[in-house]
Amino acid sequence: PYDVLIVGGGPAASAAAIYAARKGIRTGMVTDRRGGQVLDTMSIENHVSVTYTEGPRLAEDLKAHVDQYGVDVYTPQLADALIPASTPGELHEISTTSGGRLRAKAIILATGASWRLMGVPGENEYRNKGVSFCPHCDGPLFKGKRIAVVGGGNSGIEAAIDLAGVTAHVTVLEFMDELKADQVLIDKLHSLPNTTVITGARTTEVLGDGDKVTGLSYEDRASGEIRGLDVDGVFVQIGLMPNTAWLTDTVTLSDRGEIVIDERGHTNVPGVFAAGDCTTVPYKQIVIAYGAGSTAALAAFDHLIRS
Ligand code: FAD
Repeated sequence: PYDVLIVGGGPAASAAAIYAARKGIRTGMVTDRRGGQVLDTMSIENHVSVTYTEGPRLAEDLKAHVDQYGVDVYTPQLADALIPASTPGELHEISTTSGGRLRAKAIILATGASWRLMGVPGENEYRNKGVSFCPHCDGPLFKGKRIAVVGGGNSGIEAAIDLAGVTAHVTVLEFMDELKADQVLIDKLHSLPNTTVITGARTTEVLGDGDKVTGLSYEDRASGEIRGLDVDGVFVQIGLMPNTAWLTDTVTLSDRGEIVIDERGHTNVPGVFAAGDCTTVPYKQIVIAYGAGSTAALAAFDHLIRS
C-alpha cells in the first residue's frame, strides 16, 4: 500500500506529489491525464517568476518534476470510487474504471474542474483565439478591445467589472431576463461607463475570420430575432463544474459540488485530503492549486506521523 495516494494529475496533484515524495514516503498518483486544465491552455503569463510559458510546455515541466522523485504514476486511469477506511488507522481504497484497486494510508483528491461550455458553433474552433474562460489569465490580451462576457451570474459580472478596467468595452449577455449576480456587483457594473448589459439573450454562435474571433450572434429570446455583436473576445462564464460526481457518497460536498476542506486541506473523512479546483478554495488558478496541493501533502504527512 501507499503512504499517500493522489487522485488527479494537474498542478494541485503535481505539487502534492512532489511535497509528499520529498518526505521519503511511498507516493502514488492515479490520473486520467497529466497536466490537467493546463493542457487546454495556450499562453500562461501569471505563473509567478515565469514571465511566459505555454500550457503543453508547463504540463511537460510538471511531469518531469514529479517523475524525478520516483512517484508511481498510474495513467490513463479514471478513479470511480473512494472506499474510506472502516476504522481509523486502516487503509483507504481507490478503485478505477479499469478494475484496479489501490490502497493507501492517506488520500489526496485533486481532480480539478471543467468549465461549462456554451455548446455553440465557433466556441471550440476559436478557443485560445478569442474565446476564453479565464479573465485573470487572458484579460490583458484584450487591452483596448471590445469584448463580450457570456453569463450574468457572480463570476460573469466579476469578470465584466475586471475586464472593463483593461478593455475598451464590455457587453454582458445573460440568458435570463435579469442578471443573477449579487446586487453590489450589479451596481458596480452599472457605475462603469464602458459596459452594456443585454438580458434575455441566448448566444447562438461565435463568429470569426478563420484566425480569430470577430463577433458573436445571439437570439433575443423575447422576439426570437437573431442579432450580431462585433467583439474581439468572448469570455464564457457560465459555470465551473468540479470533477467530483464520483465522490457524492463519501466526502462532504458544497452545494456547488466542491469538496469542502479546511485551511489544511482536510475533508470530513480523517486521512482524506483535497486540493485545487475540485475544492471550496476561493479563486481557481495554477499558483493557487500549487499552494493547495503542497498544503494537503504536508497535512497528510502530519496525519501519518500522528497515526
Ligand atoms: P486540473 O488542472 O483540472 O487537473 C485535474 C486532473 O485530474 C486532470 O488531470 C484530470 O484528468 C484528473 N482527473 C479528474 N477526475 C479524475 C478521476 N476521477 N480519476 C483520475 N483523474 C481524474 N490558471 C492560471 O493560473 N493561469 C492561466 O493562464 C490559466 N489559463 C487557463 C486557461 C484555460 C483554457 C483553462 C481551462 C484554465 C486556465 N487556468 C489558468 C486555470 C488553471 O488551469 C486551473 O486553476 C488549474 O489547472 C487547477 O489545477 P488542479 O490541479 O486543481 O485541476
